[in-house]
Amino acid sequence: MVLSELHGKLTRALRQLDNETIIDEKVLNDCLNEITRALLQSDVQFSLVRDLQINIKRTVNLGQLAHGYHKRNIIRRAVEEELCKILDSGKTSYVPKKGNASVVLFVGLQGSGKTTTCTKYAQFYRKKGFKPALVCADTFRAGAYDQLKQNAMKANVPIYGSHTESDPVQIAVEGVDSFRKKTHDLIIVDTSGRHKQEEVLFEEMRQISVATNPDLVIFVMDSSIGQATYDQALAFKQSVAVGAVIITKMDGHAKGGGALSAVAATKSPVIFIGTGEHMDDFKEFDVKPFVLRLLGMGDISGFTNKVHELVAVNQQHDFMQRLSDGNFTLRNMYQLFQSMHEMGLINEVSSMLAGLAAPKGHEKESQLKFKRFMIMMDSMTNEELDSSNPKLMNKSRILRIARGSGHRVEEMEEMMEKYKLMATIPKRRDMSAVSQNRNSQRM
Ligand code: GDP
Repeated sequence: MVLSELHGKLTRALRQLDNETIIDEKVLNDCLNEITRALLQSDVQFSLVRDLQINIKRTVNLGQLAHGYHKRNIIRRAVEEELCKILDSGKTSYVPKKGNASVVLFVGLQGSGKTTTCTKYAQFYRKKGFKPALVCADTFRAGAYDQLKQNAMKANVPIYGSHTESDPVQIAVEGVDSFRKKTHDLIIVDTSGRHKQEEVLFEEMRQISVATNPDLVIFVMDSSIGQATYDQALAFKQSVAVGAVIITKMDGHAKGGGALSAVAATKSPVIFIGTGEHMDDFKEFDVKPFVLRLLGMGDISGFTNKVHELVAVNQQHDFMQRLSDGNFTLRNMYQLFQSMHEMGLINEVSSMLAGLAAPKGHEKESQLKFKRFMIMMDSMTNEELDSSNPKLMNKSRILRIARGSGHRVEEMEEMMEKYKLMATIPKRRDMSAVSQNRNSQRM
């Protein structure tokens, strides 16, 4: 998981609420102090963190709230909302449309991952049915054209460039014209990396932008520089009409929190994050699901979208209904695991559901574990599989099934824990996303 350290600390801080019998000012303060410390350690700006703490305390007025469960949820919701505010630029980005011949210009500092990201972006849209193409307008760095060419080949995307022409503006214009004629509907122009002190290179970037008249300018930013992102993003924004940002190298960077929040402060929406060197290490960035995952609350909207890939069309409605009504059975879970396994999506789907994800580096073990869960469920009766009442699985049944299927009791107990986690997703999150999704599927 991206920002796994921050995720661990935030999740622990919120889980601590469940361990307390009474939620009073002290418990709230301890929780907020832990959250504050975690955010500062991930390099989020001090003033943003301080405002978050003040706003949460203002929203969660413990004195006026009834006892119990409600308070924990109100605190969780307030933390979620304040984190969303920090990471949300409040702006939306231009989204390419099929058949529109969109031109997208990539700009950024040298070494930020721009060339790699251009190709990831092209591949992302090719998989969505677009006809993308790449133009290499980087004549500054030796070997830039060859690098992009190699990446483009891997992603199966055509490329335009030149080993001899030295004017990047001319190459950009010719490349865009040539791909327009060939009816490509997404033309991506890569430019040289530049720094805000390099005035000549900034002028060149402005000229490329004027000559190609892009629908979207994307600023690519390396997450490892944390809050310093803000100054760089601002400098690029002042020169060309940056409409969106992609933050790269989010894999394992403690400063990623700083980069994300700094960019949001420039009022530029972050649209994707790069999470590794490979073409598929590229994730759409949407503030709310990201924050929910960060807080260990699971990405319900991502999960419900995946359900439509995993569950047969004629069973989707029933599946979502059961989940939202609290009638989710072990058989439903079995069917889901089976599809996840068959489609090789165990890691992807489990990472969307809080409590199911495997720690980084343990994905293979997790796949085996899901297989073992299915073998244990094979030893259950139909009544057990079709009931949504976990109490049916009492100690003696757990022992018998574990023994009968050749597993340890702890494994059976762990599986039942996972089942309870899945079955209570609606309680942990409001199901508005689920029902919205269900309704839109029915329409
Ligand atoms: P450019 O100079 O901005 O075009 O940067 P490149 O695309 O050449 O990337 C510079 C280095 O960063 C290369 O070694 C890439 O493989 C690496 N890189 C790019 N994106 C990511 C990412 O999301 N994660 C990691 N770990 N490395 C990345």
